[in-house]
Amino acid sequence: MTSTDDFIELSERRSAHNYHPLPVVISEAQGAWVVDVEGRRFLDCLSGYSSLNFGHGNPKIISAAQEQLSRLTLTSRAFFHDQFATFAAGLGDLTGKDMVLPMNTGAEAVETAIKVARKWGYEVKGVAAGQANIIVMEDNFHGRTTTIVSFSTDPDAHDGFGPYTPGFKVVKYGSVEAIHEVIDANTVAVLLEPIQGEAGVLVPPDGYLTQVRELCTAENILMIADEIQSGLGRTGDTFACDHEGVVPDIYVLGKALGGGVVPVSAITANEDVLGVIRPGQHGSTFGGNPLACAVANAVIEMLGTGEYQARARELGEVMHERLRGLIGQGVVTVRGRGLWAGIDIDPSLASGREVSKALMAHGVLAKDTHGSTVRLAPPIVISEEDLVWAIDQLGAVLAELAE
Ligand SMILES: *Cc1c(COP(=O)(O)O)cnc(C)c1O
Repeated sequence: MTSTDDFIELSERRSAHNYHPLPVVISEAQGAWVVDVEGRRFLDCLSGYSSLNFGHGNPKIISAAQEQLSRLTLTSRAFFHDQFATFAAGLGDLTGKDMVLPMNTGAEAVETAIKVARKWGYEVKGVAAGQANIIVMEDNFHGRTTTIVSFSTDPDAHDGFGPYTPGFKVVKYGSVEAIHEVIDANTVAVLLEPIQGEAGVLVPPDGYLTQVRELCTAENILMIADEIQSGLGRTGDTFACDHEGVVPDIYVLGKALGGGVVPVSAITANEDVLGVIRPGQHGSTFGGNPLACAVANAVIEMLGTGEYQARARELGEVMHERLRGLIGQGVVTVRGRGLWAGIDIDPSLASGREVSKALMAHGVLAKDTHGSTVRLAPPIVISEEDLVWAIDQLGAVLAELAE
């Protein structure tokens, strides 16, 4: 089997259709570039939904993984291993928190945060058993487990998967008043994305995160920031919350924490919160395994220099300035922060999917979301020249579509 069509035909016939991929079959990658089975090169402007912030095959991450692969890969948490302490202390320090709890996927980390918040509610806040509620946002994306889709407002994600987990109140994103209105004595947490990625890179109004922080503190409620997609350099800061100098009670991390090599997720919090979990109450066979920790330790070290955050900020300015130049030429609006953009395409011109397909024909891989939005999130290691080229391709695609 060698042709794109063969690979796609077999994949589509033998796998569930839970994704609608662009018709490209990737076989190799380095940095910001991928190569398909026909030898065509594409610039990756999605980065695995920000899992590849440090690029494909990042030498530091790959060498950490290779070294670890040849030494020790798995112990389970029944034993300690020599990569774990560095991971726990390193990620704790990066987030300014006392403790970490490692898992694998993002959804598991979100589930972990929900469990910890509820337990904190019962043991520390004094909420009556079984009564805790958590405030979440419209158009949220926190993963695909049954509890998480219970409070999704996206019909595709939500409908047909009931019965649903109770204990969540959905409010409008970006409105502190909306949160205030639904808070009651049993509210234990507010869970939000500091920038809503899947919703189309929606940036909340300035001051929103600060006000949510103040409200949570005043009401004795945990602020949980899902930084799985927004965190670890993407926005030009280590975390999207940093933009307002806001520190949530719980950070939820994933995606880029695994360096594009293995799934690594975690929550971090101070001991007054994460200390509520005792042996047997939560866990994961693979969570915090030696390979995952070795890879994450390389990622944490790289973020420690601030170099990637600065690069995302600088390249982000270049990207956003160029994208703004396309407004009125097929682009309606551009949102985002750092090296992350949601671009609303004029729906009379083309859908986001059509633009993504046309971009692919021009050698750029990007992904649509919610009909008319195209999302750009290239690896932070992308060169400025390649970045500018990618946006020129978008300009060319829009010009072609307008003809
Ligand atoms: C991707 C994502 C998740 C889910 O992560 P998985 O690893 O796919 O389970 C949760 N929250 C946000 C904000 C995400 O972008």
